[in-house]
Amino acid sequence: MSIDAEMEREYIEDGGRFCPYCAGPNIFREHFDEYYKTQTVTCDNCHASWYEHLVLDSLEEIEPSYAEDAEDEEDEEDEEESTPDFTHLQPVQKGLFRSF
Ligand SMILES: [Zn+2]
Repeated sequence: MSIDAEMEREYIEDGGRFCPYCAGPNIFREHFDEYYKTQTVTCDNCHASWYEHLVLDSLEEIEPSYAEDAEDEEDEEDEEESTPDFTHLQPVQKGLFRSF
């Protein structure tokens, strides 16, 4: 039995939640191939396997995480310990003031 166009269409419309062979819901994904962008999916019911061809669709920003918060705290500690940084101040140029 092979996957025909109808099975493929239904599978994609369902968001890849059911086995295209037996319609069982217990499918699991493994071995994502970074180069070919294929995801191996196996059905726990009929033990069929197939590839999903994944397409990059869009991006979504992730809100600042717990890990980044911890990093911020580290930065604050560094600021307390180090001396103030004046390197961003430009040296005063002489000769710009008119003398009367
Ligand atoms: Zn199945």
